[in-house]
Formats: sequence, C-alpha cells, structure tokens
Amino acid sequence: MPKVLTRPIYLDNHATTPVDPAVMAAMLPFFTEHFGNPGSVTHFYGWEAEAAVQQARATIAAAIHAEPEEIIFTSGATEANNLAIKGVAEAYFSQGKHLITVATEHNAVLDPCYYLKSLGFEITLLPVQPDGLLDLAVLEAALRPDTVLVSVMAANNEIGVLQPLAEIGALCHQRGVLFHTDAAQAIGKIPLDVQAMQIDLLSLTAHKVYGPKGIGALYVRRRQPRVQIAAQLHGGGQERGMRSGTLAPPQIVGFARAVELAIAQLPDESLRLAALRDRLWQKLSALEGIYLNGHLSQRLPGNLNISVEGVDGQALLLALQPVVALSSGAACSSAKIAPSHVLTALGRSEALAYASLRFGIGRFNTAAEIDQVAAEAIATIQSLRAKTLSSQA
Ligand SMILES: *Cc1c(COP(=O)(O)O)cnc(C)c1O
Repeated sequence: MPKVLTRPIYLDNHATTPVDPAVMAAMLPFFTEHFGNPGSVTHFYGWEAEAAVQQARATIAAAIHAEPEEIIFTSGATEANNLAIKGVAEAYFSQGKHLITVATEHNAVLDPCYYLKSLGFEITLLPVQPDGLLDLAVLEAALRPDTVLVSVMAANNEIGVLQPLAEIGALCHQRGVLFHTDAAQAIGKIPLDVQAMQIDLLSLTAHKVYGPKGIGALYVRRRQPRVQIAAQLHGGGQERGMRSGTLAPPQIVGFARAVELAIAQLPDESLRLAALRDRLWQKLSALEGIYLNGHLSQRLPGNLNISVEGVDGQALLLALQPVVALSSGAACSSAKIAPSHVLTALGRSEALAYASLRFGIGRFNTAAEIDQVAAEAIATIQSLRAKTLSSQA
C-alpha cells in the first residue's frame, strides 16, 4: 500500500462507488439478528429473511417496470450477462445460432460471446459511429432469420454513451429477436423501463449505484414473449432453478435500498452531476489538443472521457494519482497494457486511445473537488508536454 497522507479525490465512480451510509444501515441487521436462510421454510428465521428478499425483489422490479418474478439475483452484472447470453444461446439452440453485439460492450458481454463462438455459435460484432452510438440501420442489416439475441449495453462504462434502447427494442421485437441490455452503469442514473423499451433481459449490479459489491440481478421477461434461459449454476434450485445458491439477504436488501435511493434522487442528481461534468469539460477544453470521447449529450450525466494529445497516458495518470483517483478505462482491464477497445472502436488512434482519462463523477463529489481536479489536470498536462518538448529539443 502506498502511503497516503490525504486521500485522493475519488473520480472513478464507473469502476465502483462507496456504499451509501443509508444502504449500510439497511444491510446491518441482516448480518446478525436477521441472519436466516431465505430457503428455510420451516421456521421464523427463514420467513423473515424471505420476507426481506421478497420486498427487495419488488423494489428492484418496480425500478425497471418489471414484475418481481422476473428478477433473478446473481453475484453481479458479470454473472447476469453470462446467464443472459449463454442461457439464451443454450435454450434457443434449435432455433438459431447467431448472436449480435457491439464492439464497445463490456468484456462481461464480449467474452461470453467469444466463448459461444468457440462452441460453434456465430457472433456479429457491430461497429459504432465515431460518437459511440450504434447505427440502427447497421443493426437492422445484421439481423438474420437465425438470430436469437441482440445484446447492446444501456450506458457505456468508459465513455458513458447511452444507446437508443427503445429503438433497438422495437426493431428486435418486430423481427422476433430477443433483446438483452447490460444496464450496470445505467440503473439509478437514467430512467429504465423494460416495457416501454421492449427489453427482454437486463443485467444489473449494486456496486455502481452506492450498493455493496457481490450482488446483482438479471431481469428475464415472463410475458410477450416468455423468455427461456438455461441455468448456468445448478444446485439447490433457488431463483426458480435458474440460479442455484443460497441468497444473500444483506446484499439483496442493500441492493434494493441503493436502487430506491438512486431513483428517488435521479431527477435532481442527474442535473447536479451534468453541471459538474460540464464545468470540468469547460475548464479542460480550454487547453489545446484535448478531445472528447463519445457523444456530447447522449451520455451519462457524471461521465467525461477525454484524450490528451502529446502526453503519455500512463505518466499522466501516475502524476495525477496523489490528487485524484482516475483511470483510463475499465478497471478490470486497466492492468493490461493495451489501448481501450472502446476508444479504438470510435476510430481513435492508438496514441490518443492510450492517453485517455475517464472521469466518473458521483454522489459524493463537490464543485470544489471538480475545480481542484481541473486545475491539477491542466497543470500536469502542461508540465508533461513541456518535458516532452524539452527532451525533443
Ligand atoms: C461494472 C460493469 C460490469 C461488471 O459488473 P460486476 O457486478 O462488477 O460483475 C458489467 N458491465 C458493465 C457495463 C459494467 O460497468
């Protein structure tokens, strides 16, 4: 552990978020007093745990306009994506072996697709436009009679770009193809409605929305159409056999409380975050050679992603690290020395894809922090550029 005198400002809220104290308070009794297994049907301890799970399930379902029976708890969005994609591929195997997804998806979508490809499925990876948005005509042209699933994320974890879910859902349903969306970054940040958007499967996670790590859910549509998925974890038959394993009431209660809080605050909080984000962009874009990655307005309110010309990306992050916790892309892949697959899909050069900063502004960030980060980033970029120039002289 590096020694830290004052903790850096946290602006990596796309990687994870702190648990909100109100969420923590809701969870605590379920570790101790209310410790029962919701699967214990013969006594009080089981019943009270089951009642809490039922209530949480209803809260999470209501947040996306679903029914409680359509929610399957998982360990997070990675597992939800795997269950959706592999589960549908396996269940609809006899109807078709073609799946469609997008180049800018999270690895938790891309890798299950690549895995299915290794088993003999056919995967079409759609490109995006330079602003990160999917072109609906490109999607329409890719649909085939044997296509069983389209998977397009709601909000991108690097560039925050919001895909046109309702339009994609309408197109898929018109063609009789199931539509899955990874909404890990979207829940509590933008309105989600599985009915209006005609979504068949939707992945969620708690830890991006001020809930605990290790809990998420998959929404699986039960009517019009009734979606079939093949279980990927077999055992005690929990979650109607679709995901075995003892349910975790503390995590589930925290997840529901986190979603409830985020949705209650959504209208005001999204305006506050967008104002902070625009303030940061206004300051940073005053510098030469700063490029915005992703669509300017079709994006998460708390997201800003920039590429910086004339600096080494690693050196920039390292120099900023004592002041601000940032990353250049997805947390899970930031250990790999490769440019972001999202930024290269936008057509960014390798150099600009490397020299990128992802700012994820969250609930606990203030305007004073944004000003401090902007000043520090500008000074650091200028000093790194000056060094590069003098070493070249
Ligand atoms: C964080 C994230 C995931 C992975 O979620 P976990 O709950 O950490 O497994 C998947 N997709 C997106 C878009 C994410 O941002």
